[in-house]
Amino acid sequence: MAGKKMRDRYDVVVVGAGPAGYVAAIRCAQLGYATACIDAWKDEDGRPRLGGTCLNAGCIPSKALLESSELYQAVQNEFAEHGIRVQGVKLDLAAMQARKRTIVQALTDGIATLFQANGVDWLPGRGRLLEAGRVEFQPERGKPRHIEAGHVILATGSHPIALDTAPVDGERILDSSGALALAEVPRRLGIIGAGVIGLELGSVWKRLGAEEVILFEAQPDFLPMVDESVRRVALRAFDRQGLDIRLGTRVTATRLVRGRVEVTWQRDGETEKHLFDRLIVAVGRVPNSAGLAAPEAGLLIDEWGYVHVDEHCRTNLPGVYAIGDLVRGPMLAHKGAEEGIMVAERIAGHAAFVDYDRIPSVIYTHPEIAWIGRTEAELKRAGIAYRSGQFPFSANGRARAHGHPEGLVRVLSDAGTDRILGVHMIGDCVSELLSAAGVGMALGASAEDVALTMFAHPTLSEAFHEAAMAVAGNAIHAVTKR
Ligand code: FAD
Ligand code: NAD
Repeated sequence: MAGKKMRDRYDVVVVGAGPAGYVAAIRCAQLGYATACIDAWKDEDGRPRLGGTCLNAGCIPSKALLESSELYQAVQNEFAEHGIRVQGVKLDLAAMQARKRTIVQALTDGIATLFQANGVDWLPGRGRLLEAGRVEFQPERGKPRHIEAGHVILATGSHPIALDTAPVDGERILDSSGALALAEVPRRLGIIGAGVIGLELGSVWKRLGAEEVILFEAQPDFLPMVDESVRRVALRAFDRQGLDIRLGTRVTATRLVRGRVEVTWQRDGETEKHLFDRLIVAVGRVPNSAGLAAPEAGLLIDEWGYVHVDEHCRTNLPGVYAIGDLVRGPMLAHKGAEEGIMVAERIAGHAAFVDYDRIPSVIYTHPEIAWIGRTEAELKRAGIAYRSGQFPFSANGRARAHGHPEGLVRVLSDAGTDRILGVHMIGDCVSELLSAAGVGMALGASAEDVALTMFAHPTLSEAFHEAAMAVAGNAIHAVTKR
């Protein structure tokens, strides 16, 4: 598969095989284009692997560990409530990590199979744009080759932001990849950044037995992109779980002291120090655009390193597109994948677009946080009149049966048309519930449309139904103030 004989000319050359690039490549091939996909990823054994950050060091391995760690904490803290007594629970972290690797391997092998089945040529190595229509391919071994391309799709993704005050050494100070591969549970864990990665990976290691997890967040606000109603519940839940989130905190220095990391930080003019076994740096990611194009190519890259594109992911060069983490918008796998499909369809001359106003987001903590569309604060800032309906999971039978009655669903709709403008959720499995809201919003549903739809009972999704009913004050299983 990898390294199969390549041509000198392709209809489409994709650089990067993360969820943006590999999806674009498959769709281009499905549309009948001779397609090659160049990718530089190698696994810990030095073997080329498709799937990019998402499959190898992001979405998938993190969700594998989130699932395993959730089961580990549930067997200790929740099973007894169900009348299930378990003794002698032990953590086998090596087995947990092996399971994670097996999942990653199965999925990345799956992409290779899809490439083969669709006739996409996988070229392991580095790609560089020489000019519109010409790409340099540097294989693992041997001389660079030039490939002519009718169209080029750049999809090289992103990498973690580095901090001078906490340089990642892969041993004590880790980025997200290192934090996913730990061979032992750190007793004291520090995390710089209380964003999505900080919360997800902090949850993993807390559940697996870390005694102390402290998250240092520079901003005074916690998850500013999340609706206030959800944020309040989340902060309370994380606090109860022992995630110690310190807002408005600036880490000013770190140093290694006898195999541990001493972190110095400032908050409210006070300076404090603390020793950690491990420190994770999770303060955001930056696009992989450095060296991606020869300077003569004239590819427009903005001051933050994003390749400049229009709403159809066209760069300033004819026939050259850029998608995924490499371009503006949230750094999410599904956003990149949708851009990949849009670009493939547009190359084929089909009408296609990405609905950037309705990109679903999920934080896979427990409870999960999920949202789509606008928050209440955004609607207020935009001066849009809205109505809202909310329903708590404590009044949902399935959530009670699951033993997870925490959280809520909130629906925001236009005060005039009743069209749904935003849906915000926190609770058990809300990542799965969110898609119903997404479909409704994509089809232009009003809150009343959802209220008039029949939902199966007992399901968690009934909370979405009731929240939509609550917009008009008609929720059945909650007391409405009149
Ligand atoms: P990438 O997945 O980064 O792939 C880019 C590929 O291009 C890589 O294989 C890279 O090696 C290759 N490449 C780079 N430069 C070159 C070059 N010059 N030549 C050839 N190849 C090159 N998103 C979600 O939606 N849901 C999640 O649950 C989620 N969890 C995450 C958890 C973690 C810990 C992290 C780090 C990220 C997570 N993300 C999640 C974000 C998600 O991984 C990214 O948004 C997504 O991978 C971006 O896809 P992409 O195709 O643009 O880039
Ligand atoms: P993030 O942007 O989610 O969070 C980074 C946090 O670090 C922010 O709260 C920021 O204010 C804070 N910060 C920045 N500089 C700081 C500093 N010097 N000191 C202390 N705090 C600082 O970024 P992330 O958590 O690194 O994740 C990177 C990207 O990966 C995100 O864009 C996210 O979309 C994606 N991701 C998505 C998922 C998911 O969809 N579930 C999971 C993981 C990662």
